[in-house]
Amino acid sequence: MAVLTLNGISKYYGGICALNNVSFSVPEGSVFGILGPNGSGKTTMLGIVMDILKPSSGNFTFFDKQPSAETRKQVGTLLETPNFYHYLSGERNLRISAEIKGKGIEQIDNVLHKVNLHHRKESKFSTYSLGMKQRLAIAAALLGDPSVLVFDEPTNGLDPVGIAEIRELIKRLADEGKTIIMASHMLDEVEKVCTHVGILKTGNLLAAGKVDEVLVNEDIVEIGSTNMTGLINLVKTLNGFSNVKEVKDHLQLLYPVGTANLEELNQYCFNNGVVLNHLQLKKKSLETKFLELTNA
Ligand code: ATP
Repeated sequence: MAVLTLNGISKYYGGICALNNVSFSVPEGSVFGILGPNGSGKTTMLGIVMDILKPSSGNFTFFDKQPSAETRKQVGTLLETPNFYHYLSGERNLRISAEIKGKGIEQIDNVLHKVNLHHRKESKFSTYSLGMKQRLAIAAALLGDPSVLVFDEPTNGLDPVGIAEIRELIKRLADEGKTIIMASHMLDEVEKVCTHVGILKTGNLLAAGKVDEVLVNEDIVEIGSTNMTGLINLVKTLNGFSNVKEVKDHLQLLYPVGTANLEELNQYCFNNGVVLNHLQLKKKSLETKFLELTNA
């Protein structure tokens, strides 16, 4: 089942198009990363699905139903750091959050354990590190036990330890079966944490699907010969690669990771009368792939 489906969502701020006809689905149980550089429309998209902003056109459904008070109850959000009271303890702040939400008061101990803050629950919020503040905000989002969590750049501004803690927490929540939708501008974060990704650039969705399909990693095999015409013709008889490009005086063959066999390739060319003067395996990084996608 799709937890969230966007159908042709567009959003204009005056003349600025922040989202252009965006459609995709978030499968149940996935960790769905909305990946894009600054200004690509991630926050606008999350604002729309959380009913903070109205789309200019298009619509969306939660659990295949029109959004309603009932469907919203199943969604916990962390769109920006909530205004916790600095002079109150973490626990007291969660009590206030639960009272405002009208749910979750009996879950405070449980959510404090989940975000690994139980041992600091009596400490004033002002004494928390940035990472702890962010974890308390996630604890607040967990009150009421929503099945879907929406996080906008949950690791923004944190140091490496704080980032690792939040990523671990997201993975644990996913293991519990929660569906998590999170915006991020960091490719490696999406690669480490997410199962699915939608890539946004200036309001356009460039690709969406499983991380290992969208951010597919390929190996590049570069080959060259003094007989380039013979080589180009010979490559037409080869199988196993997904694409071929002519780059300067070489050919680049793209293979799914780990499938290129350089020895076999060399032998095949030689047996068919083309002697290679260049044969090199290059790893194509995810960064290259991301840049290719976002420069498209
Ligand atoms: P960031 O990572 O910097 O938060 P983002 O991907 O979340 O970026 P948005 O904040 O959704 O992107 O912005 C998308 C576009 O819409 C940008 O061009 C931005 O300047 C514009 N925009 C966002 N909010 C407003 C607003 N209230 N009024 C006018 N333009 C806006």
